[in-house]
Formats: sequence, C-alpha cells, structure tokens
Amino acid sequence: MTNWPRVKKCPICGHARCLISPDGDCIKCYRVANSGPTRGDGWFHRIDDHRKVERMPRPQVLVQDMTSTAHLYHRNLLVGAGFELAEILGVTMESLWMMGCGITAGVDGAWSFPMCNEDGKVIGIRLRQGDSKWSVTGSTAGIFRPIKGWWKGSIEHLFICEGPTDTMTMWDMGFLAVGRPSANSGNQYILKLIERMREYLQTVTVFCDADQAGRDGAERLKEMILNSAFDGILFRGIIEPTDGSNDVREWVANGATKEDVERAVKNG
Ligand SMILES: [Zn+2]
Repeated sequence: MTNWPRVKKCPICGHARCLISPDGDCIKCYRVANSGPTRGDGWFHRIDDHRKVERMPRPQVLVQDMTSTAHLYHRNLLVGAGFELAEILGVTMESLWMMGCGITAGVDGAWSFPMCNEDGKVIGIRLRQGDSKWSVTGSTAGIFRPIKGWWKGSIEHLFICEGPTDTMTMWDMGFLAVGRPSANSGNQYILKLIERMREYLQTVTVFCDADQAGRDGAERLKEMILNSAFDGILFRGIIEPTDGSNDVREWVANGATKEDVERAVKNG
C-alpha cells in the first residue's frame, strides 16, 4: 500500500490523509467502517467517480550534497587517468577539469560526471564504465556545468545539450553549454539556471540527439522554457546534427566545426 497516495479530502469520511488506489477506484478510509474486510486499520470503499478526489503532493525527495565525493573522484584523475578519459570521449583535459570529471577508484574505477544544481553545487554523480551508465546512490538528476567558477567567454547564447560529453564538446568549440542527464531529466535545474542567467542571457537553443526520444524530450523542454516566460530571452529553436550523426560528439568526430553548429542554429 506504500504506492497509494494520500488524499486531501476523503470522499467517504471527509477528512484528510485517507488513501486512494493508484487506479483511483478504491479508497482506504481510516474512519468509516463497512462490512468489507479490513486490512491494517482501515476499510476499503469502492468509489464511482474519482476525478474529484484531490491527492496530496508527493513528499519532496531529499537532495543530497555530493560535493566532497565528486572532489574525491576528481582528485583520482590527477594520477594520469584524465588523459585516457579525454581520449576516449574526444574532449580536452581542460573541459574534463571544468566539469569536475573523475574516476571512482583504482584500475577498475568508473568515470564520474558530477551533476549540479543551478549554483554549481554537486547533487548527483553519473558514472560510466564502458557502455554501462548509472548514478551514485542518492543522486539527483541535476545538470552538467562547470563545478568550479563559471563558463569562459560570452554568456549570451546558451546551448542545452544531452549528456556530459556533448556538453564538453560544445565547450571545446567555444560555446556556452549546459547538459541534461537525459532527454527527460534535469529540466527544473535548466529553468532555474536560465532564471539565474537572465540578466545576461539573450538566446537559448536546445541541441537534441537525433532520435525520437531526443526530439520528444527537446520539445518538452521547449514548452517548459516558453511557459516560463523569461522576458527578453529569445528561444532560438531545437537543432540536431545535420549530417545524420546521432549527437554533437559524433558530429564533431565526423568533422563538424563551430561554423557548422552556427549554420544549424541559423537554419534551424
Ligand atoms: Zn476517509
């Protein structure tokens, strides 16, 4: 019964905190008995119309501060593994450093990518080993951005990418970019970041992966940005690689340059 939400006002007893089944057809009321079986300390009541039953908001999940763990992993890169990771990902050491990437421990360690809130505090850590990707237990899906300080250069046009590697690839080309852990996560922190940057920011572009999940996720983020009504910030559009590559990293590996990205923005 742990996945039965509480209701704001029970349709049976009129009080708060009774439970409703996930399908909405049944109430477990703690006050009004019926002839039916009881389980625990309540009675089950079928209801005909659950549409008017308001549910309590789900409790907020605690956001953990994972800064010290991220720094611990980051320091492990100092033993030279950073060069290996840079080569595997096709990005510069400078970008790895800016993002605070690391390695968990020893030879069998997993690569680590800190996920931050809008201020750069680490609230989760993405791990990667070969093709496997997962997160440190307790992680919140934040955003990939510089963990120390701020981006370099112009902060007028923000690109929102998918994944840490695409984000670093954009940095290497000289763009201001931030990454989401996937096409469907990190959105709330993206919105908070835009809010934080609105004094300087002029344009926002979403750079999506060239697959259905990427495009759908980009559309949802676009809606959220437009609904947030950031005065004075232009939503430039959604772009993707123009040569059939799946993402920015692959596009650049296939020869795309900064000019190609700028052309995609202009035509997108
Ligand atoms: Zn009740």
